[in-house]
Amino acid sequence: MSCRANEHERGWRGRSRVLALSILLAAGCERAGGSAGKSGARPAPEHRPNIVLIVIDTARADHFSCYGYGARTTPNVDALAAHGILFRNARSVAPWTLPSHMSMFTGLPPRDHGATWAAFSEPGKTSRKLVEFGFAPAEPERMLGARLRAAGYRAYGFSPNPWVSRNHGFAEGFEGFTELWRKEEQSSTPSPKRATTPEEQLRNEFQRTRSGAAVTAVERMLAEHPRGEPFFLFVNFLDSHFPYDPPHSLRDRFGGKTETVTAIRENPGCEFRMIAGLPLFSPEELVPLYDADLFAADRAVGELMRRLASAGVLEDALVVLTSDHGELLGENGRYSHQLYVDEPLMHVPLILKLPGGERAGTIVDDPLVTNLDVYATVLAAAGVEGASGAFSRDLIAAARQPPRELLIGEYAPSRAYLDYLHGLNDRFDVEDHLRERFVVYTPEFRTELVGPTAVATTPLSGRMLDGMPGEARLAAAARAAEQALVEYLAARDGARSGKARFAGDDLESVAELEALGYAGTEDHEEPAPGPPAKQR
Ligand SMILES: [Zn+2]
Repeated sequence: MSCRANEHERGWRGRSRVLALSILLAAGCERAGGSAGKSGARPAPEHRPNIVLIVIDTARADHFSCYGYGARTTPNVDALAAHGILFRNARSVAPWTLPSHMSMFTGLPPRDHGATWAAFSEPGKTSRKLVEFGFAPAEPERMLGARLRAAGYRAYGFSPNPWVSRNHGFAEGFEGFTELWRKEEQSSTPSPKRATTPEEQLRNEFQRTRSGAAVTAVERMLAEHPRGEPFFLFVNFLDSHFPYDPPHSLRDRFGGKTETVTAIRENPGCEFRMIAGLPLFSPEELVPLYDADLFAADRAVGELMRRLASAGVLEDALVVLTSDHGELLGENGRYSHQLYVDEPLMHVPLILKLPGGERAGTIVDDPLVTNLDVYATVLAAAGVEGASGAFSRDLIAAARQPPRELLIGEYAPSRAYLDYLHGLNDRFDVEDHLRERFVVYTPEFRTELVGPTAVATTPLSGRMLDGMPGEARLAAAARAAEQALVEYLAARDGARSGKARFAGDDLESVAELEALGYAGTEDHEEPAPGPPAKQR
């Protein structure tokens, strides 16, 4: 085994000073607004820090400026990274929302928690839509909120994504879990005051987005949360999910066209057709809008950081920022985030800001880090013993653990969903997609597999060893990946634990899931037309 340094500590040099500006501004707010530190009532914050988990939904790492993207898409995340640890090579264990979030909330791989399309395969055989089914975790007490509650935390969740909902078990243990797609939540958001300056216009524009509503709701939560008790805050920002519809002020920031936004809006359900292989929009049209939406999500992160700082709780908090999966933007003619385990889907951002800004500016190159590690990292920070397991590892203590040998990502398809896609494009080959897809990462290689068979092996950059011909070494790596997968599947046989349950009377959730590009029926129903899901 090669000598694999877990991390390379590097400063952020001149760039970090610039990027630090917004956090420094935030720190100013902290001093001005801070009443929290005065009472001294908070017990032992060094043992039980407040913990904030931010998931920017559908965010591919290589479009973040702090991950080397050419445009400055994520200044606020960059600033957070400059004050914390950036994991350069983090991967998701699944390419879409439900299994990936469930892994972060259970510490288990998709195969074990079972929240995949496979769980819905039986209900999908009826004429009911797949999205009308919720998911019941097998061990509610294992869920992140439940374990944090048992550890003395109050947990608050804010989700604009109906997959991450009460229906799917995510609210377990939470004091409050706000489902931002619901009409009642939209009507409870105060209308912005009339704007008289450009700054106020921008603020109002932000407040009208769902991420703006989330930040306002968090502000209310912070005001009401009892001082002296640690909290766990989970926020999902959905801005960079399809349909790409950045707020007006951001639309042309990266060269996006309003005509494209309009065309996307006028084609409800066009995401399904793109998943089914019909390229309705070109990458040149979509990428600038995706980047602008990512910038919008980053703005939400900045606003959230400022609210936390104003409440005097940012400095001592552990902040974890990641994504549930990336996005395909036309690579190999592929779009969205279903069917495949391509690298743009699996490579996600992962950043930790430790309490007190410890290890600020650290970059970790370890190739076998995953957002599944969020579970053990959060629980270990909360003082829960034994949180690290076979699959989820405490990233803060990673240097004291034996290195991981491999990491597996997986996608289990649904026949009903594939049939639905075939109904949209009769050239979409259902048989081609019926088998599960996997990706196996080792310290040196990435191997993609369809069913049990390796179909592509590539060296992870800079990790090719000398001494063997490239092809022989790649073939050996492919065989090793196949063997590793066989062992993984054998050990997991029958492990699927949670189960789907009917939740179809929740029509608001169903409508929102359809608007986000999820469906799947036997009778090829068109998704219900409606306004774009994200910004209202
Ligand atoms: Zn997602």
